[in-house]
Amino acid sequence: MSRNWTMNIIRRGKHVWLLSMLFCSQTSVAQNFGQVAPNQAIDFTRIGQNQTEALKVNEAIYQGIGFGNTFLITTPDGNVIVDTSSPNVAQRHRELLTKVSAAPVRYIILTHGHGDHTGGVHLWKQEGTQIITQRIFPEFRAYQDRLAMFFARNNAAQFNFDEARLKSLSQSPQNTVTPTIVFDDRYDFELGGTRFEVFHTPGETPDALSVWVPKYKAAFVGDNVYDSFPNIYTLRGTSPRWALDYVASINKVLKLQPEFVLPSHGLPIVGHDPIVKRLTKYRDAIQYVHDATVKGMNDGKDVFTLMREVKLPAELDMGETYGKVAWSVRGIYEGYVGWFDRNPATMYSASPNVADADLVELAGGAGVVAAKSRAVTQAGDAIRGLRLADAALAREPTHRGALEAKLAALQALQKSTRNGLEHAWLGYGMRGVQKLLDGAGTGD
Ligand SMILES: [Zn+2]
Repeated sequence: MSRNWTMNIIRRGKHVWLLSMLFCSQTSVAQNFGQVAPNQAIDFTRIGQNQTEALKVNEAIYQGIGFGNTFLITTPDGNVIVDTSSPNVAQRHRELLTKVSAAPVRYIILTHGHGDHTGGVHLWKQEGTQIITQRIFPEFRAYQDRLAMFFARNNAAQFNFDEARLKSLSQSPQNTVTPTIVFDDRYDFELGGTRFEVFHTPGETPDALSVWVPKYKAAFVGDNVYDSFPNIYTLRGTSPRWALDYVASINKVLKLQPEFVLPSHGLPIVGHDPIVKRLTKYRDAIQYVHDATVKGMNDGKDVFTLMREVKLPAELDMGETYGKVAWSVRGIYEGYVGWFDRNPATMYSASPNVADADLVELAGGAGVVAAKSRAVTQAGDAIRGLRLADAALAREPTHRGALEAKLAALQALQKSTRNGLEHAWLGYGMRGVQKLLDGAGTGD
């Protein structure tokens, strides 16, 4: 997918110079963005780690690449930083970008309050630096802080990070960001003859903003554009991300007619035509999934049916290496109406699996069900295989055969996905099973 971006840069005649100035070769651009073989999933934690020089976008704009990019915009009167990446990447970005310009940092603009954008604010902030955010930013940060332990636990599981370290990072005073300028719809300023227009563009978060620099026809769009279908719902947990907000915000950016679109994840999209093509398709794909979900809801379909049924038509398919359509369908469905599914059993606190142990006992025990699980997985339905293994484990939590059947199902699912987050959560599941297998598994 990032190959397309690189190719856009290459194809644009007048921007051909870009590439040679960015990195030594196309391969290194791809490697730096963490591009992988077609049958592999992206490891988000490694993106940009081989970058040795800041990416030069044009004569004034430079990019540090990471899971969370940092942008530097130079002016004769000092610099502007857009986003600051995550805590573990921010220092590397600062080193790369200060090699380009060590002039004073006049403004830091944060496209939203996620930690992979605010992790380096303390490194860039100097005496007199203004920090610009949309007005909802502090409220959004307060929501994340309120659930800091929940998110730390999930992020640690998702990326196989150390949970204690993540918890202490999220509570560190360095993580506190206090904006000095907030705005509702729009904030304009000028620095060294360059005009900056900052717009409210809610999408991935309610506080999301985009930065427009008319002089360079450059739009910094934060997380509202990915090189994949977006995460309208993300597995680590999120309050609803409104599909129609993305659509309206992408329209706002398209209206500006940018020559550069600079997402905070991934590489720049360069040139009017590739930008219109990419953003239009992106917008239409989100609208399509939203409309199909709403139609299904009104037709009386349940959420799981729609997760299976709603598929993007070929002309809107943009890959699902980051977000997944199925998760987004559920995100839209439950974002609109919450969790109750008209089944009276769902009203009560007993989990949907409450009778699994009884059923496994009636079936003849965990061993029998584990064998069925393995057979089902081998026949190509690893999702059902996983459910059967979980049922067996509900009856006997350390049953070796059931643990092995579960591991086999998780492995089969991991082999078949290119989605980085799905891959990561399957890995989390596998580590848990492995831990139990390494302990005292019983039975066969
Ligand atoms: Zn982000």
